[in-house]
Amino acid sequence: MSFASDIKSELCRIKSHDCCIKSELAALFLINGTVQINSKGMVLNVTTENATIAKRIYTLIKDAFSINGSIFVKRKTRLKKNNSYLVEVSGKENVENLLDILHLLGRDEGVKERIHKMLLRKKCCKRAFIRGSFLAAGSVNNPDSTTYHCEINVGSQNHCEYLVDLCKHFEIPVKSFQRRSHYVLYLKDSDDIVDFLNVIGAHNALLTFENARVYKEMRNQVNRVVNCETANLNKIVDASHKQVEQINYIEETIGLNSLPQSLIEVALERLNDPSLSLKELGERLNPPVGKSGINHRLKRIEKIADEIRTGKYKQKNKKG
Ligand SMILES: [Zn+2]
Repeated sequence: MSFASDIKSELCRIKSHDCCIKSELAALFLINGTVQINSKGMVLNVTTENATIAKRIYTLIKDAFSINGSIFVKRKTRLKKNNSYLVEVSGKENVENLLDILHLLGRDEGVKERIHKMLLRKKCCKRAFIRGSFLAAGSVNNPDSTTYHCEINVGSQNHCEYLVDLCKHFEIPVKSFQRRSHYVLYLKDSDDIVDFLNVIGAHNALLTFENARVYKEMRNQVNRVVNCETANLNKIVDASHKQVEQINYIEETIGLNSLPQSLIEVALERLNDPSLSLKELGERLNPPVGKSGINHRLKRIEKIADEIRTGKYKQKNKKG
């Protein structure tokens, strides 16, 4: 199961207040519902790809409004397509009664474009309207995927604008744009998605999301540290490789014994273990020498190797 369908299953277990049931169902009907006249007379259909949502719609209208519907499964013939589920309420009286309860009854084919203010009067109902819209047309990426993304995809600009306002009411800065004939509301910021899950009441999903986010951030941090250490190691290896070359060159030309004693010690330790950092190299000496001291001595070795190469080297007094 995807993270989005986990969220939807969780939302379907929420026990709504009577006022909120209307807001949630109205949102679902506005997005996924159609009213038609066919051989059965007037029919209201709500289609969803999620069996749990179909059951919720069926149960809510039966329990809260005593209206009987039916559920049908439509099998998809194409591969990789999910079945879809249809909740149907038939009969002019039933349909009009239900639309009236949900404040959706209007002159144009039974569904009003403007969303009735009774549906959004209370804070709990505002949440329920967003929840219903998410159940109808929402999705959230798995929190462990590379990017965070949550969206609701609706067919009506009006519905989209209501949702933007409602989200703003809960201080969720949702953005929207038009994609062909649809309007898409989306969130990209993980904090905003957490707030959104909280508003619609998906508290378990919120915890799952937070855990995945913490884990992902920790993993990124570990990767950063490892990359940083790798870069440092490469630097040490490069520098050390050069030092070994210089020391070998001195040995082949004037011989290491021509160097001051302090430089011979460092040169031998370096040849002995090219992987040591400057600090570790200093600790091998007796008495130990600090990082800057070692750096200074290695610079002197480098200078001598350069002088030999360019013919400027003069044997100096062999004192440290
Ligand atoms: Zn309410």
